[in-house]
Parts: sequence; structure tokens; C-alpha cells
Amino acid sequence: MMVSGLAAMLGAPADAQRGTAPNDDPVQTLVTRLDLEKYKDTIKGLTQFGDRRQGTDRNRAAIDWIEAQLRSFGCSNTERLHYDYQPLPQTGQGRGGAAGQRGQSQTAQGGGRPRGIRARTGVNTDPNAQPDLRLRELDSQPSTPGPREEVYCTKIGITHPDEMYILGAHMDGHGWGEAANDDGSGTALVMELARVLSSPDVRTERSIRFILWNNEETGTNGSRAYVTQRQALQGKEDPPGSGKYPEPKWLGMIQHDMMLFDHGMPRADGTVSPEQRPEADVNIEFQENSKFAAQSQSLAWVFAAANEKYATDYPASVGRHMTNTDSGPFQDVVAAISLRENERGVHIGNGWDPHWHQPTDLYATFTDKDFRLGLNAAQTTLAAIAQLTGVSLKK
Ligand SMILES: [Zn+2]
Repeated sequence: MMVSGLAAMLGAPADAQRGTAPNDDPVQTLVTRLDLEKYKDTIKGLTQFGDRRQGTDRNRAAIDWIEAQLRSFGCSNTERLHYDYQPLPQTGQGRGGAAGQRGQSQTAQGGGRPRGIRARTGVNTDPNAQPDLRLRELDSQPSTPGPREEVYCTKIGITHPDEMYILGAHMDGHGWGEAANDDGSGTALVMELARVLSSPDVRTERSIRFILWNNEETGTNGSRAYVTQRQALQGKEDPPGSGKYPEPKWLGMIQHDMMLFDHGMPRADGTVSPEQRPEADVNIEFQENSKFAAQSQSLAWVFAAANEKYATDYPASVGRHMTNTDSGPFQDVVAAISLRENERGVHIGNGWDPHWHQPTDLYATFTDKDFRLGLNAAQTTLAAIAQLTGVSLKK
């Protein structure tokens, strides 16, 4: 095989070679345009704003930076959604579970059944837990209630500009770290996809919106505001006769939240392996108790198949307990899935990621094996969305 293949490459005319070249597949060509170093650079860029907590100057500066990056990638029709955020009175129970054990609970958030060893989870609120004084200072401005913004840009479809898939991740974080994994890793993934798909030679039949939610950590307030404000605008040409659709009809929403760390279950002493496990996978979840469960499940399998064909290192697993992320507000309106390092309920919720909402969620915490899991999720979404939107490359 190898010899005859090589002979064919050496001896065949150029046209015949092109017929068998792997880059004849536009999806493959696009996937190869993703790059580990570029992905890492974008995560690193996001960490310059610390934990990017909502309602702070560092959060607003990060939104400005993200918008400038999107425009520099050629996704230049950036817009912002505006909403107001007023926190509910504190109950003492942090989202993502109390700082203590969840006891003998037999059902995880989202509906899964926890197995094996569990470690404690929670949100760090203690500044002094951050030993890096520079970062402690950077993360020190508290959140103020009031107006909020989140940024998006859209690749317009050639033949169906009135229909779109939404690719999302949340850009806000907390915990007195750098929010490198939660959710710099998902935000950078969506930004890298915006870069690749905005290349001037890329055409899609349908539209794709790239959106970086704010206020996820306070209870998906940013994505809820988007659904509330824009659901009824779907598919309307505005102005009439213009061929412009400010809110194309939603075909699916794909969220990316914590993409890097799959080191396995906590050990008996509560610690987690320092190494990415060789069995690491991308977890694609839909919510079985949602109105669009059937459509969401179908979408999840498209992503699993795209992973199998195009992702270079890590496989994907499909689960039915999507929860606690920005695809939630969409799940009764349209097909909605999330991609993650682990299942949110039975894995992350039971302590599989010791950096979750902690001062150790830093760029420097993660290795290339971790970053590569995020890159494989990017390959998965890029390959799936390229096929779903009918991608082609201008010669
Ligand atoms: Zn998150």
C-alpha cells in the first residue's frame, strides 16, 4: 500500500493527485487550519483579564478585547446584546454545590447517577487563597449590579442567510484565578472557530453565530437574556426586501464549557492524577428532560460522528444529562448540546476537576495534553458545523 501510494504520488499527473489528496475534503482542510499554539495563545490572551468576573472593569475590558480579536479574524459584523443584571439575595448556597459534601445524593445535577469516589467542590471566595499577589490585585474589584453586555459576530450563509447555528461559550469566570479552563478554554475555542470560518475563501450555505456569553456563573443570565430578547425575531427579514436577517432562525445551539481537564476520578485520598488520562474524551451532552430532546440527541450524534472522522487524538462520548450551562436556556426552544471535558453532573459535580472555580484555574496549571483535549473539541465542532452548514472553499 505504502509503496504503490508513493509511486502514484511520484508518477501521476497533478490533477490525478489532487483527486486522492486528503485536502480535497473542505472539512478536513478547515480542521487542519486549527492549531494548538494559536488555541493556547487565545486562552493566554483571555487570562490577562484575570477571572473576568461579570460586572467588573476586567470583564468589560475582556469583552472589548474579544470583540477586537473577532474583528481582526474577519468576523467584523460584531454586535452586542445589552441587558441588566441584578443579583438575587444571597442564600449562602453557591451554585455548583455547597463547599461541603453532597452527602449520599443518588442523583447528580442534570439527572445522572454518581459512582465511585467523590471529592468536595465549591466556589472559592477567599482572596487570600490566591498566592500570586499580582493576580489577587487583578481579581480584586468586586462585581456591581447593573447594565451588562455580551458580544457576538455572524458568518452569513450564502443561500440560507435566514437560518443559523449558534456556537457559544461563556467569557465570565470567578474563583480568584484566571478562569483559564472555565471558561477561557471554551471562549478561545469559539474564537478560533470564528477565525477559521471567517477566512475569505470559506463559504457556508447557512449562517453561523459566534457568541461569548456573560453572566454564566451567576445562573446563565446572559444566555437567558438573549433568548428572551431575540427568540421572536427569528427568521424575520429586516428591513423587508433587504435580504438581511438580524436574527436568523435557530437550527441548533452548541455550548463549550471547560474543555481541558479529564484526569479521571478522584483517588481515595481525594487527590486527582496530575496527568491527562489516556482515555480522556470530549463529552457531548443533551438534556433528556427537555422539549427538544430528540432533536438534541440527533445533533449530538452528528458531533460524535464528526469527532470520529476528524478529531486527531481524543474520542467523544454522548450523554443525556446536559445541565448548568448556556445551552440550558435554549433546550426547550431548539436542538441544544454542550461539549465539555467531562460530564457536568456526575464527573465535574463530583470533584473530577480540582481547579474548577479555584485559584488554580490558571493558564500555567495546564499542559499540552490538556490543551490538546480542547483542540480536539474544536476539531469536533468545526467538522460538524462545517458539514451542517454546507461548507465549500473558493479555489
Ligand atoms: Zn463554565
